[in-house]
Amino acid sequence: MTTTRYDLLVIGAGSGGVRAARVAAAQGHRVALIEEAYLGGTCVNVGCVPKKLYSYAAHVSEDVHLASSFGWDIQVNGFDWTSLVANKSKEISRLNGIYDRLLNNSGVNLFWGHGRIEQVVDGVSEVSVTDSESAVQVLTAQRVLIATGGTPFCPEFPGSELAITSNEVFDLPALRKRVAVVGGGYIAVEFASIFNALGIETHLIYRGPQCLKSFDADLAHAAQSEYARKGVHLQLNNNIERIEQQGDGFLLTLTQGNTLCVDHVLMATGRVPNLADLGLENTDVQLEDGFVKINERFETTEAGVFALGDVRKGLALTPVALEEAMVFVDQQFNSSERVMDYDNVATAVFSMPNLATVGLTEAQAEQKCENVDVYESEFAALKQSFLETDDKERSYLKLVVDADNDVVVGMHMMSADAGEIIQGFAAAIKAGLTKQQLDQTVGVHPTLAEEFVTMRTKRGVQE
Ligand code: FAD
Ligand code: NDP
Repeated sequence: MTTTRYDLLVIGAGSGGVRAARVAAAQGHRVALIEEAYLGGTCVNVGCVPKKLYSYAAHVSEDVHLASSFGWDIQVNGFDWTSLVANKSKEISRLNGIYDRLLNNSGVNLFWGHGRIEQVVDGVSEVSVTDSESAVQVLTAQRVLIATGGTPFCPEFPGSELAITSNEVFDLPALRKRVAVVGGGYIAVEFASIFNALGIETHLIYRGPQCLKSFDADLAHAAQSEYARKGVHLQLNNNIERIEQQGDGFLLTLTQGNTLCVDHVLMATGRVPNLADLGLENTDVQLEDGFVKINERFETTEAGVFALGDVRKGLALTPVALEEAMVFVDQQFNSSERVMDYDNVATAVFSMPNLATVGLTEAQAEQKCENVDVYESEFAALKQSFLETDDKERSYLKLVVDADNDVVVGMHMMSADAGEIIQGFAAAIKAGLTKQQLDQTVGVHPTLAEEFVTMRTKRGVQE
């Protein structure tokens, strides 16, 4: 019997793994892909896609709220969580099918099961695949790509096993009345916003004074104010100490000594790389802060073993994993010297309101540039004009400019569709956009985004 030696064996069919496998196979290379759970990985199954769909569901409540100001007489009879979950699952099954077909059409050999590196000899790896019935196959490959992504990190404390993570939240059997979300990063604020807009009493428990710590401070501050204004109960400088079952719900004791009664506890306290039983002990692969250590060519410290995506330290975003996969395939199979450029990667937080950002925060710009100019604007969007209240959703836009060469080094915004808007500006910033070029750009009126081309007054300078 002859065994195929694959040119590339990918462990993990998530964003990065599927892209690398598919592109390499389409170029005529022999490619195997091992997946133990679902095609499309975190993003498709328990990440970006279902999250955005749930966020759309949440936004509907805001549109309903605005409807009467535009003359609509709408009667809302309620929200049905089980329909949302069922529709989400149907859509994800459809996407899983598309991934399956794409892989098949490009000639990737897909193996269902758990991948484990058994040994690496002279740069050739042996990888076992153990399927759900414990049957084992061994594959050999010239290159192994670890694209096993990440999994939620949940600190241990009394009762922590009663909490759920983002892996379970999308399929809660029922959405009950009260939820506590722990954390102050992307997942925490996105889910706090979703629950709050769906009408659930929502508590956001964050251990620091200001959530979204890695974002521009003014943007994070504007966002946190909006979350509170919209009704999210903020528990800042506070953390969860214990969870006790209380009837159908849970009694939470917090580090400040106060207690909360809720029906769900979502831990959104970060993610760690998926390295469980991957066989790294059979290799010379080294870790860096718990993540797989790689260089610019995605090479680990073991010959013939590579890694990309959330399993390595750095930006944990789907488009980053996708682009890394493209660069990796080019480097390995097309003799490319190209390396991944991590500068000016745009990102959005799909909280309510949406946030989006590209480039440096003001604090980072101050470290990097001698002189920094800041332009900012804060206002209520036109869409809310008819609301008979002063308590309207705020939008916030900020530009950070290197004053010495006029280059726009950072753009930050909180507004409806912020992610959609920043995507276009991100291309311009990547191309070296200057403030003067922004000033010379004619706006699209009436839009929110036109503010970026009409900001003329530097912060701290009187008009
Ligand atoms: P993953 O997509 O995690 O894929 C890894 C795959 O490997 C999985 O399918 C897993 O089952 C498989 N696997 C692991 N170990 C093994 C093994 N030993 N054998 C076989 N298979 C294995 N990013 C964005 O850009 N925008 C967003 O809006 C966004 N929203 C998110 C929302 C949530 C709730 C979460 C959790 C993440 C979100 N992300 C978002 C991040 C994004 O999902 C990840 O950055 C992206 O999925 C990383 O891709 P990856 O290929 O590295 O790994
Ligand atoms: P983040 O790293 O964004 O945030 C984790 C949060 O948990 C931080 O606020 C952190 O606090 C807090 N935390 C960590 N440990 C503890 C602890 N022991 N007790 C209490 N709080 C703790 O992780 P997420 O889980 O929100 O998301 C993971 C990654 O997935 C993101 O970084 C992002 O890359 C990606 N993602 C992207 C999305 C998008 O593009 N829209 C959406 C969702 C996820 P502190 O701030 O003090 O460190």
